[in-house]
Amino acid sequence: MNAAYTFRTAQGVWINDMRNRALSSHQWPSVVLDERAVNDLCASIRLQAESGFNCFTTFGLLTASDWLTDLPKTVSRQRQRQVRRVAAEAKACGVKLLYGLGVYSWGFDRIIEADPAVRGPNPHAMCGASEESRRWMEKVIDYLLAEFSFDGFHLEASDRGRCTCPRCTPQGNTEYYSRLNAHAARYIRRQQPDAVLMVNMCGYLPWGTSAPRADWPHLVELGKELDFLIDAGHAGYFISPTERARFIRQLPCAFGSSGGTWVYPPQRWSRRRWFLPYTGRSGTHLEELYAQGGRAVEYYMGPAINPGVEVNIAFGGRKLNAVERDNRELLGEVLEGLYHPADSRAATALTRFFVEAEEAFFASFDPLLPEGGKARGEIHLCPLFGKNPGPPIYLRDCMTAKGRQAYGRRLQGLLKDLEILAPRLKSQGRTARIAACIRGTLGDLARCA
Ligand SMILES: [Zn+2]
Repeated sequence: MNAAYTFRTAQGVWINDMRNRALSSHQWPSVVLDERAVNDLCASIRLQAESGFNCFTTFGLLTASDWLTDLPKTVSRQRQRQVRRVAAEAKACGVKLLYGLGVYSWGFDRIIEADPAVRGPNPHAMCGASEESRRWMEKVIDYLLAEFSFDGFHLEASDRGRCTCPRCTPQGNTEYYSRLNAHAARYIRRQQPDAVLMVNMCGYLPWGTSAPRADWPHLVELGKELDFLIDAGHAGYFISPTERARFIRQLPCAFGSSGGTWVYPPQRWSRRRWFLPYTGRSGTHLEELYAQGGRAVEYYMGPAINPGVEVNIAFGGRKLNAVERDNRELLGEVLEGLYHPADSRAATALTRFFVEAEEAFFASFDPLLPEGGKARGEIHLCPLFGKNPGPPIYLRDCMTAKGRQAYGRRLQGLLKDLEILAPRLKSQGRTARIAACIRGTLGDLARCA
């Protein structure tokens, strides 16, 4: 029987994360929506659909942190038209577009500045005990439902922390965030019963801690309002993997992760500066999650001009549709479709090449180093914040000097293999981009030395 995930969501995360040319001096998260951003978003949606994803969620289509108190003024007419173009592309591709909506935070900075009734100690999160905050949240939802026809919403209350005023503090994190998310979901559902509604738990608890069983009822209550709940796993899981199956049996909605291990490149990082396919790891994680009862995933996108990213996406979507497929065989199929190798020997060599690129990196990646430990789920190529690309922390701080040397040697080996293989692959453009990405990585390794 075909084992498939129900909610196969492509996770943006932000609109310019799928951009094929870096925004070199932009602070993260950049929500510039120019023609290139729209075109690259539309191209990403087409790749998602071809690969088998059925939902796409992204933040920043309308704003990042700055809803204006006069809400409609937040979005220019031109931007409205651009967002509708992206929505139309998703519709044409049969992919449901879930608007990335901050709940009480991510969006409310200006409102918090302007309205003392919603203000607690956190300048980025409205007070969770204030009636006025609830009204602002509802106003934003009313505006979105009136002006756009999104197929659903990715709700997130917890990424920027919470209100810690005396009225909010007594409520524990899991209860607090679940209550805010549940209210937003209920409010949307009342007006748009068929909306796809999900919550991502990013930031629910301090990294490295998980929700005790006594807190699960709050998540079960939240689950009644949702289609699915995501415990992404950036730097650990809030539902311990050993308890996941038991938790899933209690949860009234679908549950899942962000696919295990993924790379998150900030928008200002050159798109040809890393080569990191991780289909083996994704494949294994998706098998384990499915066996535990997981039926939803928010799988990370990225700039598909990078051949590693492209393959990760093409593989991930197919694996979500056919969990039982052998990972290496599926990778081979994806590579044949993209590179059209001349014969079966070239095809086998190409698959081996991608497997070696993954193994070479993870053999040197050291989870015992402080940065390597943090990056267990989400691997940052460079620091998230700042206006310059900054150092390649995934090499400098996640590997020892010896590890970097070993990785460099294996990348040199891959470059040689690619030279021999290239004439037997039809997609010369992709082959050249792989070489550029490997050379970019070697340059970074040299700079770390
Ligand atoms: Zn408060």
